[in-house]
Amino acid sequence: MSCDNCAKDATQIRKEFQLCDRCYTVRYSTMTIDGEKMSLPDAFKLQLGKLGLGRKEGESIDQWSSRCKAWTNKTPYGKIIKEAT
Ligand SMILES: [Zn+2]
Repeated sequence: MSCDNCAKDATQIRKEFQLCDRCYTVRYSTMTIDGEKMSLPDAFKLQLGKLGLGRKEGESIDQWSSRCKAWTNKTPYGKIIKEAT
């Protein structure tokens, strides 16, 4: 059974829809930040922007990903990730 929105396997199956985890999260998950309820993708976008890690105009996904990885590697989280892999 595949997702109604993409080709991935559906993991969230209801009478009204069948979606993969990612599509379900994008459509239905919310987070409240500073008293404002927003979609999870919007919350991530807001938080990345606060860190200066928002996607720049003309920046490819690979470039953006590399910039975020470089930033993460400079933090204590990067050290933990390196030790765990
Ligand atoms: Zn999907």
